[in-house]
Amino acid sequence: MSKSPNIFTELHSENQFVTEFSNGISLYLKREDLLHPEVSGNKFRKLKYNIARALEQKQKTLLTFGGAFSNHIAATAAAGELFGLKTIGIIRGEELGRNLQNTLAQNPTLKYANSCGMQFKFVSRADYREKETKAFEQRLKDEFGEFYLVPEGGTNELAVKGCQEILTENDRQFDFIAASVGTGGTLAGLINASGINQEILGFPALKGDFLSKEIEKYSFKENWTLKLDYHFGGYAKVNSELINFINNFKKKYKIQLDPIYTGKLVFGIFDLIKAGYFPSGSKILAIHTGGLQGIQGMNTFLKKKKLPLITF
Ligand SMILES: *Cc1c(COP(=O)(O)O)cnc(C)c1O
Repeated sequence: MSKSPNIFTELHSENQFVTEFSNGISLYLKREDLLHPEVSGNKFRKLKYNIARALEQKQKTLLTFGGAFSNHIAATAAAGELFGLKTIGIIRGEELGRNLQNTLAQNPTLKYANSCGMQFKFVSRADYREKETKAFEQRLKDEFGEFYLVPEGGTNELAVKGCQEILTENDRQFDFIAASVGTGGTLAGLINASGINQEILGFPALKGDFLSKEIEKYSFKENWTLKLDYHFGGYAKVNSELINFINNFKKKYKIQLDPIYTGKLVFGIFDLIKAGYFPSGSKILAIHTGGLQGIQGMNTFLKKKKLPLITF
């Protein structure tokens, strides 16, 4: 397994020019995906100040929640290993715990997290829905002792603070900053770090109108919009149009996108450009948050569904 960057000192990514469209609109990608081969760049950023806080509190254990292919689970496991913190992942899906060896053999995300030393507790979907309650937390404390709790998807105030560092002074030259939205923590960080003349566009990777509220909770500016038409049916839902877009994009620009987040983001940007949404001459910076560790798992699913696979 490749070495992790020190997330306190080594989170710097470059903007890569992708292409210029006929109306002078140019697209750049901030290559946060290159921060680590397995871990989504934004997940490390979200953990940065949380780990600092856990270390300050002399905590020995990080505990968090996620689905079986969660980028956040992979990131927490990697960061815990890096800083000598024990990690516990509460994973949705009781059935996955019945035969752990079998699960690990079939699930690259959990296999990676396990290789970083993460301990799993598999819970039913009903229990998983209760995970934010005090009663559930107490049960976890009874079982595992003290821990530093990181919420599902990693979003809290400290996470947003970490995501504010995605943008630099140099990025003020862009008219639009675009990013995929899961919990909204990353977008809130981008909004807080943006200039007043910049417009921040969020592309939710899932259905639902609760995201605006989440983003408002953590951000203090109004120069942002959500583009709600690019979730492709919901979280982790894909179709062959999206897969083909990801594969063609890779062929043409030699950049790998993931099917859950960044594929939908870049598809949406191309679609909006076609629809004339951006004024001519606009400079767009899209954040490539990563997510590439999820491709293998998605391909297993696509194969079963007899859909085209993601070239990887
Ligand atoms: C988690 C994730 C997101 C979404 O980030 P939020 O802060 O939850 O909105 C976007 N892209 C990738 C690759 C991710 O792993």
